[in-house]
Amino acid sequence: MPAYDLHSHTTASDGTLTPQALVNAACKAGVDVLAITDHDSTAGLEEAHRAAQNLPLNVIDGCEISVTWSGSTVHIVGLNLDLAHQPLQQGLARLREHRKERARAIAADLEKHGIGGIYEKVVARVRGGLISRTHFAHELVALGKAASVREVFKKYLVRGKPGFVAGQWAQLEEAVDWITAAGGQAVIAHPARYRLTRSKLIRLIEAFRGCGGEAIEVVSGSHSRDESFTMARHARDFGLLASAGSDYHGPENPWVSLGDLPQLPQGCEPIWSSWQR
Ligand code: AMP
Ligand code: MN
Ligand code: MN
Ligand code: MN
Repeated sequence: MPAYDLHSHTTASDGTLTPQALVNAACKAGVDVLAITDHDSTAGLEEAHRAAQNLPLNVIDGCEISVTWSGSTVHIVGLNLDLAHQPLQQGLARLREHRKERARAIAADLEKHGIGGIYEKVVARVRGGLISRTHFAHELVALGKAASVREVFKKYLVRGKPGFVAGQWAQLEEAVDWITAAGGQAVIAHPARYRLTRSKLIRLIEAFRGCGGEAIEVVSGSHSRDESFTMARHARDFGLLASAGSDYHGPENPWVSLGDLPQLPQGCEPIWSSWQR
């Protein structure tokens, strides 16, 4: 069976590998099918396809859309998108614009907390036209404010800490519509990461399915084995397909490797069972 990794990032969003370098690394890691799912952008895919032309690797056109749902930020992955679809591209462009405003607000809040002049430094780190909290995290580490990106996300940029600004992202229904209208399949990314109560998670899954969502990420680089089993049960109970992705952001994060994912739990219907190779 081919090896699938259906969630990954490049320098087009907050990954540290260029699309070409990511494709090469995935190939070396034994991945057969790689979805590139940058935050709110599909800008890395053209280079990725060029890089994969003479490699035994199939690149899937994807993205990871930031959504505000019921007061929580959740991520919806789209797979097999028509990248030329205008409503999708206009929606993503709107979110990237919002990211610029949010970045100014994050910098202003950090300034209030004694970390001044960070905005220009963070902008200088952006390589693919999209600014994220990860870019702030790298700069805060460089400034010695934290020992690691992980530590940054404990001390800064999160609710109740300096530099937290709640994003106003897409609505769930909009994001699923952009994906499905572009011929793609919508997937709830890393559902265990949101720390929702069981009943709120079920409300999310029902709302998602109600607007045409098809799958949930059962296996994720950020799920424990237990969390995968829980999500597998939800997928089965709600008649959703199961996806699997590392959420790889680059070699700096040693906890997550490309393509090194456990099998989907028994009884899941893989999202790729419907794909033609
Ligand atoms: P943004 O979409 O700009 O709000 O940034 C979200 C990104 O920050 C995620 O996709 C992760 O790459 C990164 N991130 C969030 N929390 C953490 C964490 N605890 N450790 C490392 N990276 C994180
Ligand atoms: Mn990220
Ligand atoms: Mn995510
Ligand atoms: Mn991701």
